[in-house]
Amino acid sequence: MKYIGAHVSANGGVENAPENAFNIGANAFALFTKNQRQWVSAPLSKKSIDLFKERCEKYGFKPFQILPHDSYLINLGHPEDEGLGKSRAAFLDEMQRCEQLGLDRLNFHPGSHLNKISIDECLAKISASINLALDKTSGVTAVIENTAGQGSNLGFTFEQIAQIIDKVEDKSRVGVCIDTCHSFAAGYDLSDVKGFTEAFEHFDRVVGFKYLRGMHLNDAKKGLNSRVDRHDSIGKGLLGEDTFKILMKDPRFDNIPLILETPDDTIWKEEIERLRSWA
Ligand SMILES: [Zn+2]
Ligand SMILES: [Zn+2]
Repeated sequence: MKYIGAHVSANGGVENAPENAFNIGANAFALFTKNQRQWVSAPLSKKSIDLFKERCEKYGFKPFQILPHDSYLINLGHPEDEGLGKSRAAFLDEMQRCEQLGLDRLNFHPGSHLNKISIDECLAKISASINLALDKTSGVTAVIENTAGQGSNLGFTFEQIAQIIDKVEDKSRVGVCIDTCHSFAAGYDLSDVKGFTEAFEHFDRVVGFKYLRGMHLNDAKKGLNSRVDRHDSIGKGLLGEDTFKILMKDPRFDNIPLILETPDDTIWKEEIERLRSWA
């Protein structure tokens, strides 16, 4: 079964996200559990937590249908001690918020070397950061998102993701989220059957489908291998509808959250309906 939704607003509190997802006909959703542009947010209140759980139950969202996303400020591969320490503390806080909400995974962008350390060093720091967070939490999987490779962001090749996973001690609590737009921008041509098939065969060989815990469904505004991260609405970008038709028919993408981060939230409902009609 396909679980399709969008990264919905949690304005006014995380407890509002399940209803926002329900209102667009989603059976999956993503959310930020705190303000994604601030380092520190107030802890979740008991009331918020209880309401969130109650409403997930009411609208039929189980943890495996929900893919929380961490703050954009966090860089788990930060080259400097201060930035790394701050990032690790913030990431642990995000993992703990997921624990409190009864969620089982947290999606994050791996990290950036900022042109100050080598790729290998940065990837090793990311693995160490994941180990630290997993040590202090339970039941939440750290889900590495592939990136477009913009600037010095790492995790744009499946090999880099495999290298991070390799140094994670508890392999049962590390996972991967593949973003279709980021893949295309990083040089994986998902726009037709041939490219799609090759890319995911490569993914399976290098990383493994057993690690796949979610997908971001975005069309791409910028070209193949552009290394620029610009999402487009489904069918309106350079990937086109075919990518998503292939994906919706592929059982390897069953039973994980498939999340739209497309720019026009007024058509999310329609995009979800269209995707579902292709499943
Ligand atoms: Zn994404
Ligand atoms: Zn993106």
